[in-house]
Amino acid sequence: MDRSGALVIRAGWVFPATDETVLRDGWVLVEDGRIAAISASEPRAPGARRIDRPDATLLPGLIDCHVHLTLSGSGDWLREADDPTPVVAWNVARRAADTLRGGFTTIRTLGGRDRIEVLLRDEVAAGKMAGPRIRAANRVVCMTGGHGWWIGREADGPDEVRKAVREQIKDGADVIKMMATGGVMTPNVEPGAAQLGEDELRAGVEEARKAGKRTASHAQGSDGIMAAVRAGINSIEHGFFLTREIVGEMQERGTFLAPTLAAARGLADAEPGSIPDWARAKARAVREPHLESFQLAVSAGVRVVLGTDAGTPYNYHGRNAWELELMVEAGLSPIQALIAATRNGADLLDVLDVVGTLDVGKRSDLLLVRGDATQDVAAILSDNRADGGILAVIQDGRVVVDRLDEQPA
Ligand SMILES: [Zn+2]
Repeated sequence: MDRSGALVIRAGWVFPATDETVLRDGWVLVEDGRIAAISASEPRAPGARRIDRPDATLLPGLIDCHVHLTLSGSGDWLREADDPTPVVAWNVARRAADTLRGGFTTIRTLGGRDRIEVLLRDEVAAGKMAGPRIRAANRVVCMTGGHGWWIGREADGPDEVRKAVREQIKDGADVIKMMATGGVMTPNVEPGAAQLGEDELRAGVEEARKAGKRTASHAQGSDGIMAAVRAGINSIEHGFFLTREIVGEMQERGTFLAPTLAAARGLADAEPGSIPDWARAKARAVREPHLESFQLAVSAGVRVVLGTDAGTPYNYHGRNAWELELMVEAGLSPIQALIAATRNGADLLDVLDVVGTLDVGKRSDLLLVRGDATQDVAAILSDNRADGGILAVIQDGRVVVDRLDEQPA
């Protein structure tokens, strides 16, 4: 057998993310881009590249279910929304590469423009551009003047929502994003207020389902969240004002929650004057209920995914693993946070048969991190720590980020 390109990786900790089990001193064999074996002793693979890291953790490549590659993380997003398309596209390509270098091998983009992320998805899949696997929403569907209109397709009434959804699918979207409530980053709307109604959301979900697409809803206020859940949305984004009744319904229906703690933190902690005052005031007002809602959802058994909302102010592409630290700070165990960032994300994005766990036969999207990431998720972002930092990112069996020979700072 030709083993050129095969890899044998030994790691001090191997976390398959199939359950909470961590293998001490495990071996993974990668052949033809797939995981060929996971074992407790060295597999026979003459000719394979051997990576021997007893000081490191091997886990599935991370998945971010909520990013905006067309936004930079600046405090002036409304102006940025008017940037010329080619400029945005160059920056999107760079941010996708940064995201991959940050350990994320799959992302879902939930609001872009001009089909940029849809087209980049295809370039990445063809091996022509560096970046994570992309599931793209293209434009968000919102009511007239509703949250996100500045990156949105405004639609009013079920029939127009149907048409808006059909347009996104025609433009190549993998997933449909609809806005059920107001939000922090749009002037003259309130996060707690409902926007697209249940009838409109239902129509959108139905159109998406007909095309075999899943749905996500920006949903912050209770009435809007409940409408989205009842309409059959696959994931609630943000979920600032959850109630017992809502989390019960989510748990029963299997609705995922992407809490986007990094977005909330970036906006609420922004220095006065660095973002518009109206946005800062809204972000600070929802801070407490957001954390309480996240904890309520976790205690009710709602499945959580990692979603950063990267691209929102001070929430940068490539730093997506910050969300793991914030989820742990908010009460998840490091292993629960890693499962949210791998298996659960793959399940929501409908790619669990391909990636998301270390299972024989799956595509080998892997992350090798110095230290024991199953005890300390901060090891992933800690480039400047002797016991942390990303050593390698492997995508489809290829080592696309290779810092194996670098000495820690
Ligand atoms: Zn977003």
